[in-house]
Amino acid sequence: MSDDPRAADASFYSRALFEQSPFSTVIYDAEGRLLAANAAFERFWGVPVDSAPPDYNVLADPELERQGALPVIRRAFAGETVVTPPVRYDISRLSTSGAGRTVWTQGHFYPVRDAGGRVTHVVLVHVDLTARVEAEEALRLSEERFRTALRGSAVITSSQDRDLRYTWMHNPALGDRVRRVIGKRDMELFERTLDAEAMEAIKRKVLRTGESERREVLVYEDGQPRYYDLTVDPLRDAAGEVAGVICAQIDVTERRRYITERRRAEEALSMQARVLESMREGVSVTNEAGVIVYTNPAEDEMFGYARGELVGQHVTVQNTYPPDENQRIVAEVIAQLKATGEWVGEWQNRRKDGTPFVTRARITAIELGGRAHWVCVQEDVTERKRADEALREAKETAEAASRAKSEFLAVMSHELRTPLNAIGGYVELLEMGVRGALEPGQLADLERIRVNQRRLLGLINDVLNYAKVDAGRVEYVIRPAPVREALDATEPVIQPLAAAKGVALEVEACDQALVAVADPDKVQQVLVNLLSNAVKFTEPGGRVSVACEDDPAARAVRVRVRDTGVGIPADRLDAIFDPFVQVDTRLTRTAGGTGLGLAISRELARGMGGELTAESRVGEGSTFTLTLRRG
Ligand code: ADP
Repeated sequence: MSDDPRAADASFYSRALFEQSPFSTVIYDAEGRLLAANAAFERFWGVPVDSAPPDYNVLADPELERQGALPVIRRAFAGETVVTPPVRYDISRLSTSGAGRTVWTQGHFYPVRDAGGRVTHVVLVHVDLTARVEAEEALRLSEERFRTALRGSAVITSSQDRDLRYTWMHNPALGDRVRRVIGKRDMELFERTLDAEAMEAIKRKVLRTGESERREVLVYEDGQPRYYDLTVDPLRDAAGEVAGVICAQIDVTERRRYITERRRAEEALSMQARVLESMREGVSVTNEAGVIVYTNPAEDEMFGYARGELVGQHVTVQNTYPPDENQRIVAEVIAQLKATGEWVGEWQNRRKDGTPFVTRARITAIELGGRAHWVCVQEDVTERKRADEALREAKETAEAASRAKSEFLAVMSHELRTPLNAIGGYVELLEMGVRGALEPGQLADLERIRVNQRRLLGLINDVLNYAKVDAGRVEYVIRPAPVREALDATEPVIQPLAAAKGVALEVEACDQALVAVADPDKVQQVLVNLLSNAVKFTEPGGRVSVACEDDPAARAVRVRVRDTGVGIPADRLDAIFDPFVQVDTRLTRTAGGTGLGLAISRELARGMGGELTAESRVGEGSTFTLTLRRG
């Protein structure tokens, strides 16, 4: 120590400074032995300085050694001012009492030299880093946790500044490309400006209001629509001002698709259910064990059960077969299903109240949950069967009645013809004067009798003919017959009629080689009928023509009878072939006829394997075509 008062002062001040310093301060000798420590040391470390072991030496401190701080500290003892790296120091390991704290500290070492420049002491000031390091550690930990949480997450997380430029983004789908996003705005990132505008609008709202928003947004990425569930939270600075936004974006495209698909599937199911419920046919599903697992309302109703009551019951409650019979039918159905996949037939059923009824059923096999099931669609045909039966009976009765009528007519006609012929014969005898000469008045009366006798005979002949045809009692002598012969035989019969009425008759000279396979008498009968009709329904001055036609392709020969007469309305063309049908009864009353000619003619044509058809135009005329088999 020197006598210099200033030196004494300096020593006093430094001592005061040392004692009062708020920093933990330690003084070592040049060898590293602890000389003194201040009060702040004791506060800082939580132990009195004398709790240090007597032989403590900083240059051999095991804690500092462990943390690699000694090389730096040694430089201080060599004369350099040094600052150690932050050290986590646990003083309780050194203090003799085992007390003391663990702190994060940074040692500031100042060498003190004597006049000769030799290092005599080293001063160590501890800077407390505990709070800072702990804060940093807490931050690091929090970031670590955050990163771990994000690592497996598909949530796109990002932050944007007030300008809505990206400052950070976590997007696993982007990988390294995520860096390109930083500094950009949505407007620069998304293909469709509209999406970007909508997104930015939401974010601007959050910037403005400071309140979070959650919205589903649609964006197009690489041309593909994607749906995101977007949450935008305000990001506040230390002063609490909104400094940007932080967004979480979850891709819900798949979820939406799944929901849509599920909804569609549900709709399809409910539609199918509605279809089944609206069906008139009963539908039931039976499992392999013969237990009913489904019925539609029509099935329940048909069998007289409450809705769903049949489900769970054995299918035999529905039918009336004895067990053996039932087994036989089941075996038959299974065999049929295996062969064709379907069984169609009639079941004998019974309702809940025991009433039997018949259904027509279609059974198909389907697989449900890996097991075979039967689907049976059936309808009650009891009524229909009853109606069919009634119809069949009615038809039989009608046919029998018709046969009886025809037979009656045939007999009657025959019985009528005989006396009528007798009347005709006696008229002729009288006319010939066998009973004496007659006066002109008597002759005129006889003529009237004769005309009426003929008309009546014609009518009876028609009825007889029809009755025979209708009763199927006509016999045909089918042979190859030249068509021309039939026409030649017909012409002389019709010519006088036509001439008398002033109607021109033109008969085409058919090819002699044109041969039909038919009964020539019947062909003649048909032609006479067609031609006399033609003359009858054609006004004087009109024309009736007959033409032949060969159709080798259809193996047919046709004779057409054409007239320029009154014609037949289109809606009557079919009916005129029915017996007793006349289009205009006033006309026939004057012209004569029974309405049987065409009915007979068509029957005869068909009886020879041919056909008779008509075409006509009212006011223009008619054409009747007789088609015969070609020879
Ligand atoms: P009918 O000539 O004895 O009355 P048809 O069976 O021969 O009986 O004819 C039935 C009806 O068909 C006739 O009453 C007439 O109304 C119509 N018809 C037949 N042929 C002709 C024809 N050529 N032109 C116009 N109408 C005809």
